[in-house]
Amino acid sequence: MQSILPLPTQPVKPGTSTGQQFWQSSDKTIDSYSPADGQLIARVHVSTRADYDRVIDTAKAAFLEWRQVPAPRRGEIVRQMGEQFRRYKRELGTLVSYEMGKSLQEGLGEVQEIIDICDFAVGQSRQLYGLSMHSERPAHRMFEQWHPLGVVGIISAFNFPVAVWSWNAMLAWVCGDVCVWKPSEKTPLTALACQQIIGEVLRNNNVPEGVSCLVTGGRDAGEWLANDPRVALVSATGSTRMGKAVAEAVAGRLGKYLLELGGNNAIIVSEHADLDLAIPAIVFGAVGTAGQRCTTTRRLIVQETIYDDVKNRLKNAYAQLRIGSPLDESFHVGPLIDQQAVHNYQLAVNDIRESGGRFVVEPGVVDGLGFESGCYVRPCIAEAENHWAIVQRETFAPILYLLKYTTLDDAIAQQNGVPQGLSSAIFTLNMREAERFLAVSGSDCGIANVNIGTSGAEIGGAFGGEKETGGGRESGSDAWKAYMRRQTNTVNYGTALPLAQGITFEL
Ligand code: NAD
Repeated sequence: MQSILPLPTQPVKPGTSTGQQFWQSSDKTIDSYSPADGQLIARVHVSTRADYDRVIDTAKAAFLEWRQVPAPRRGEIVRQMGEQFRRYKRELGTLVSYEMGKSLQEGLGEVQEIIDICDFAVGQSRQLYGLSMHSERPAHRMFEQWHPLGVVGIISAFNFPVAVWSWNAMLAWVCGDVCVWKPSEKTPLTALACQQIIGEVLRNNNVPEGVSCLVTGGRDAGEWLANDPRVALVSATGSTRMGKAVAEAVAGRLGKYLLELGGNNAIIVSEHADLDLAIPAIVFGAVGTAGQRCTTTRRLIVQETIYDDVKNRLKNAYAQLRIGSPLDESFHVGPLIDQQAVHNYQLAVNDIRESGGRFVVEPGVVDGLGFESGCYVRPCIAEAENHWAIVQRETFAPILYLLKYTTLDDAIAQQNGVPQGLSSAIFTLNMREAERFLAVSGSDCGIANVNIGTSGAEIGGAFGGEKETGGGRESGSDAWKAYMRRQTNTVNYGTALPLAQGITFEL
């Protein structure tokens, strides 16, 4: 396949969005290959430790200016960024699809998420509210205010190479923070493209150099952020293994962290479900982005009386799936990110067989698509049991486990019976079942849906999950509070000095 985009022929240098003067020292590059066709699409310079230190110092200096800019004015700059992303939606969406391998529709959808969070953040910039409380002392006023934190480090995963950055950065900027982004080493070019897209807005508005920065590299660069006391908040998205390492490092210096980690999401299909709604939701949830979403449906917990019916309908639906280039909209399933991911898929398939699993839809690597990528695999379905070690783990591939239940209590126990707690759903038209699923004794996940699948969250709600998913919340609702520090203020406008709790202190 010919490269479909006008891509750079020289190694590209990261830096701040408005200048590149920091970036002279490293000749080491990350080579970014498209999983769609196996082509080398870019070489990106890797930041050295010296580059990193200069970036953090510049970001810290920028913070002193940026925090003084009124929040609605910061919101106006984010509004202009949203306009830029509208302008470049097709180009950036295509690049996301080409570099990461998700379908073009999903690539465009990811850019739409950036646009949506920009809109949300603009409104938020006028709503950074604190409460006021009634003081117990006469002639006193008590209230709270929210102030920005400082430098926010953003470590992102490959599967949402641009949206996750924007969920963090747009809110952090309206809150008055400055951002240093360390994108996945598997998708560096999309990150550079975002910096270029917003660079013009930053320059036009005379935003100080260092409000938006990028450092490139792998785990090392992520560890620099996690261990650096100059970084007030580390927001990290990725595997639970990575999240545990980041949490330990940041907690060791009593910094703040926000974690968005792995999921092992289930849909419960009740005998009262509308299967015409449930089947497409299950298939989209299980095979969308080739099973590489944190919210991918990995487990299907089906009531025993409809189990065979659901199994047969899924077999039929999977038989119609077309696997091929993500850039061709006639295909439903694109590639995995790289050959290591294909290897992990194969290991999981072996593990399922060894555990006694039976494939209802057979797995396999797909060849003969006309290009060299080697990253395409067949979405598969296996009958399994919830307690198996392989079912308890998140395998980042399109493997769906079929589990059976008798009572709703049993279904909820299976749904909750994994270490992760991101997204969950029930399909039922029975109001009592739906409410029990959402009640305190129901789903233990950060997201619990009724009659929609596990993936495809909206910007307006807080996004994140419990247990090994890390407990963080991003995007909508009051997620902005994670990017600010709360200050309680008491002002005495009277002529006496009454102490709290009725204490007297005579001099
Ligand atoms: P990963 O953990 O391999 O890498 C994620 C990022 O962390 C990369 O930028 C990487 O360089 C960096 N990193 C790795 N080790 C590090 C360390 N010790 N210290 C600091 N940084 C480190 O994950 P991935 O393969 O890119 O992404 C897939 C994973 O991300 C899945 O588990 C998926 O569920 C999860 N994810 C979660 C969410 C969510 O919102 N909950 C969203 C997207 C992806």
